[in-house]
Amino acid sequence: MTSKTTRSLNETQEAQIVEEKIYKANGDAAYKRYSKGRFLGKGGFARVYEFLNLETKQISAGKVISKSSLTKSRARQKLMSEIKIHRSLIHRNIVRFEHFFEDSENVYILLELCTNQTLSELIRRRKRLSELEVQCYTSQVISALKYLHAHRVIHRDIKLGNLFLSDKMEIKLGDLGLATKLEFDGERKRTICGTPNYIAPEILDGSHGHSYEVDTWSLGVLIYTMLIGKPPFETNDVKLTYRRIKMNAYSFPEQVPVSKEARDMISEILINDPAARPSLDDLLAHPFLTKNLVPKLLPASTLAVPPSSA
Ligand code: ADP
Repeated sequence: MTSKTTRSLNETQEAQIVEEKIYKANGDAAYKRYSKGRFLGKGGFARVYEFLNLETKQISAGKVISKSSLTKSRARQKLMSEIKIHRSLIHRNIVRFEHFFEDSENVYILLELCTNQTLSELIRRRKRLSELEVQCYTSQVISALKYLHAHRVIHRDIKLGNLFLSDKMEIKLGDLGLATKLEFDGERKRTICGTPNYIAPEILDGSHGHSYEVDTWSLGVLIYTMLIGKPPFETNDVKLTYRRIKMNAYSFPEQVPVSKEARDMISEILINDPAARPSLDDLLAHPFLTKNLVPKLLPASTLAVPPSSA
């Protein structure tokens, strides 16, 4: 069944009903109905709400993108590329793409609902995480990245705010808005993109293009940020941050205890030459991730307080 057009009705009712027009095999039109509920958050283009499928009772995160924000063909192309890449991915540590449709006003993307916010809110609440938690989350992010890279996809925006936590406290990598799929393995990408604190030096340099290793760099920034509580190259001036990244100028603050294995892993990743960075398999075998048993999942209590064993 295809979903060509849809319409929104019942603007006056408390929970707004969104209708998706579908066509049955015999050509008759029918509607799938969703109740648009709680507001979950706002991104660059989208407003995100809980969407309840009134037939199946399944609840999803519904990204609502106003068509008025898609008048430029570049914006439309970017959204289509995000949808095309995201819908092809199925992995337990990647936010599941469920469905998309449109009506006259909006494009709707239904995603797996992640009920425990992102690592960004977690760090804001907890300040920083214990090594056990960082080991657990890092292993899951590496698992998602291995899957993406095996499918020739570079995420290009690995950061706290794009790592969601499910109801079971599983990591779900989301926001494929900057992702790109390589045509062939040796291809180099040239678009300058990313989030300032997490951007890899070869993207800033620009002369040789970039590839999968930019995700590894951002992973290094992520691990540092989870352990220390703030990103390694952060300043209050983006240009200065970029200069620090290019000069590899970061340090470990004395007041935060960090194990040798954790420091080693971070400093092995944050190397300016992308070819000299460890592979994702090297990282999975690194002492930081193998020195002790790492739980597959953490209890929900760690949303507020450190795990008791840490
Ligand atoms: P954009 O692509 O426009 O930047 P995001 O994907 O960052 O939008 O989503 C914006 C906000 O919506 C997020 O910060 C989060 O609060 C919420 N959100 C997005 N996806 C989900 C999801 N799958 N489950 C729960 N909340 C979500």
